[in-house]
Amino acid sequence: AEPRHPLSSKGEFVISYEFFPPKTPQMETQLWETIKRLEPLCPRFVSVTYGAGGSTRERTHAIVARIARETTMKPAAHLTCVSATREEIDKVIRDYWDAGVRHIVALRGDPPGGVGTPFMPNPLGYPTSSHLVRGIRAIGDFEISVSTYPEGHPESSSIDNDIDALKAKIDAGATRAITQFFFENDVYFRFLDRARARGITIPIVPGIMPVRNFRQVAGFAAKAGASVPQWLADRFDGLENDPETHALVAATTTAEQVMDLVKAGVNEFHFYTNNRADLVFGICHLLGVRPARQKASA
Ligand code: FAD
Repeated sequence: AEPRHPLSSKGEFVISYEFFPPKTPQMETQLWETIKRLEPLCPRFVSVTYGAGGSTRERTHAIVARIARETTMKPAAHLTCVSATREEIDKVIRDYWDAGVRHIVALRGDPPGGVGTPFMPNPLGYPTSSHLVRGIRAIGDFEISVSTYPEGHPESSSIDNDIDALKAKIDAGATRAITQFFFENDVYFRFLDRARARGITIPIVPGIMPVRNFRQVAGFAAKAGASVPQWLADRFDGLENDPETHALVAATTTAEQVMDLVKAGVNEFHFYTNNRADLVFGICHLLGVRPARQKASA
């Protein structure tokens, strides 16, 4: 049957990963082990997050520049407009250009007071993510990805408001949207249908959050505009002190979600890796995405 939501016509899976800048030398070692394990799967790009309010500006830049220098992968730097002037942000963008980075994930960022407090733009800064996208476009011919929220951003009044925000970012020059994570695939399909009906044609790539640690993911979800369905909580109930079963249930849950998306014709996935390789590597294996060496000798 004709897939309901074809994203690419090439018949191959397109994958990308998200990492966060490590805080300690141990976490840095772990990130580089993860990068080395996942690199042979040939992701289209790998993105590195930007701490709230720009708190990781230097660390994000350092990781992105090292990925560009030392790996075959194309890095994408997340950038937000919170608490900074246009001049400061433009300098970050130019520094990326000078370091050979050609892809930015452009975001507004959370209000400095935290999720739920009103967002007050810096009077000398970019007021919204769509203004930031336009600013990046004016500096260089970057590829620009943006976020989108299938269940609605916490500040959004309706899904139509989220689609308006996405349209504004596309009009400003964004060419790919990456979704906030979700656990009910129907939520994503409904959002996709509504976005397509509003004339949005760019890829809206599902952001996949492997549930390595249910309690941690439930904490992220509460702040992120993502809901945790009761069936998911029930699956992990009682496994707090049983890491082996927790890992088995996590792998099964993420595999089910991804394979169900595949059945509906989705072939592009962005993985929130949490700087860990295991689940992402396993899911990619299930998809038939194998290390380049293995493919070459097959
Ligand atoms: P925006 O595009 O700014 O939109 C947020 C909501 O505001 C919209 O849904 C809409 O309701 C409203 N809105 C905004 N502009 C308009 C408009 N023109 N017209 C109508 N409505 C509008 N945060 C970080 O600090 N660092 C990161 O690295 C980071 N990476 C992220 C990656 C992804 C894939 C996602 C999904 C989120 C990420 N975030 C990150 C979180 C993000 O910064 C917060 O959710 C923030 O509150 C919103 O910024 P945004 O750019 O995602 O949303």
